[in-house]
Amino acid sequence: MSEAFVTLATTDGYALGALVLGQSLKAVKTERKLCVMITDHVSDLLKRNLEATFDEVIVVNVLDSKDTAHLKLLERPELGVTFTKLHCWILEQYQKCVFLDADCLVLQSVDDLFEREELSASPDAGWPDIFNSGVFVYKPSKDTYEKLVKFASEQGSFDGGDQGLLNKYFSSWARADISRHLPFTYNVTSNTFYSYVPAVNQFRSDIRIVHFAGTVKPWQLTYDPQAKQLSGCYQSFEREFLLKWWELMYETVWPNLS
Ligand code: UDP
Ligand code: MN
Repeated sequence: MSEAFVTLATTDGYALGALVLGQSLKAVKTERKLCVMITDHVSDLLKRNLEATFDEVIVVNVLDSKDTAHLKLLERPELGVTFTKLHCWILEQYQKCVFLDADCLVLQSVDDLFEREELSASPDAGWPDIFNSGVFVYKPSKDTYEKLVKFASEQGSFDGGDQGLLNKYFSSWARADISRHLPFTYNVTSNTFYSYVPAVNQFRSDIRIVHFAGTVKPWQLTYDPQAKQLSGCYQSFEREFLLKWWELMYETVWPNLS
């Protein structure tokens, strides 16, 4: 039975994120395959590094398919990356997958996620009846992929991104089956480090995945490896996790980039 963690990187910045994510999964000794989808905007250097870290690097081309739904979707440039993310359903060489945004960092093993069914995800901190689409369990299926593309071209996304689209498609998530609700500790988004510090304190040791959702991504910061410090001013938990990301980056990714 083949199962994989899947991520996506359409730029060199997100590719750095994917590399650290891949290394974080290796650090917790995952027994699953690692797969990354990229576009041809990713440079050769980063692509070579991704090939060394991931079992499979798949180049997806948004213009590949010429059917009506695809063409309609291309008229919605706001859905560009969303459309690319949907390609994860094509990976039928795997029976089950866990999609992780490239801005996620795994702190403890999450291989138990493969016991869950499609579509399992954690509640979004901003609107808990909506799941956050940075971490989700799904079953690859070209049939589902085609349905999603058709749905996207007809309905679009209420928030302009993949989260709005996937929540509308898997709209029973909120109420149908509690086993499809992952604990929040599987997708702790960085806004929590400001909005609910006592809870982060209380559940710190349970956190399995930190998700640097939002406009500032770890790879955009400047790290001083000698002093182990970061540029900018961050709340203490955010700094702790950003430093973890950078330490892994500096030890496992950086040496192969020069
Ligand atoms: N992504 C990408 N290129 C982009 C934007 C997004 O490859 O230009 C991928 C990447 O895997 C990223 C995910 O899509 O983690 C979702 O975007 P992002 O994490 O920026 O959204 P947020 O979690 O901040 O809402
Ligand atoms: Mn994200």
